[in-house]
Amino acid sequence: MKNSKSKKLVIILLGPPGSGKGTQAELLAEKLDLYYLETSKILEEAFNKSKKGEFIKISGKKYFFSREENLWKKGILCTPSFVSYLVKRKIKKLGGKNESLVIAGSPRTLYEGKTIIPLLEKLYGKRNIRIILIQVSAKESIFRNSHRRICELMRHPILYSKETKKLKFCPLDGSKLIRRKGLDDPKTIKIRLKEYREKTLPLVKYLEERRLKVKKINGESSVSKIFERILKTLK
Ligand SMILES: [Zn+2]
Repeated sequence: MKNSKSKKLVIILLGPPGSGKGTQAELLAEKLDLYYLETSKILEEAFNKSKKGEFIKISGKKYFFSREENLWKKGILCTPSFVSYLVKRKIKKLGGKNESLVIAGSPRTLYEGKTIIPLLEKLYGKRNIRIILIQVSAKESIFRNSHRRICELMRHPILYSKETKKLKFCPLDGSKLIRRKGLDDPKTIKIRLKEYREKTLPLVKYLEERRLKVKKINGESSVSKIFERILKTLK
């Protein structure tokens, strides 16, 4: 059942790696009946499906999946035009179907913002776009990421906490909990944090200049507390 009767809504969650935006997006999707558009999933899916030597052509330039996948594995953001292309394609599909969305992990750069935000405004209207920035310190981000796991079946993120540290299987589907190779190594996380500071923070400025409200939320507490804070800002 999707949210078709009430007005369409887009919630965009921003935050450094380890801010728990993926977990919050899942919760929001369930609570508010939204489609969870997850950039990392779109990318991973595209990489897994891509054939050897496959590329997409954007304004005359070739972008090879294998090259993008290598960047991704090192913690470096994929080429913004490549990401935007895939995300835009997905948004158009969903927007056309009148789906309300929650988006985590994109836009991540100013470039992506400049291509994706106007499209969202067109499809959903400025007033129906809510942006939430979940803030956590670098230290907390590194700790959380180096302890984080996902489930093998659905890639449900399992944040590290007293309650979850002994878990071996996904509480939702029972599949094994694994670490994400490469992406969550401390060295890679430091690169991802630097990327966040240099590339995502300028995006926040752009959004504010477009008169989109960016609500900042303290992300250094339990999942349920943060969820509560997010729901409050949506009212
Ligand atoms: Zn799972």
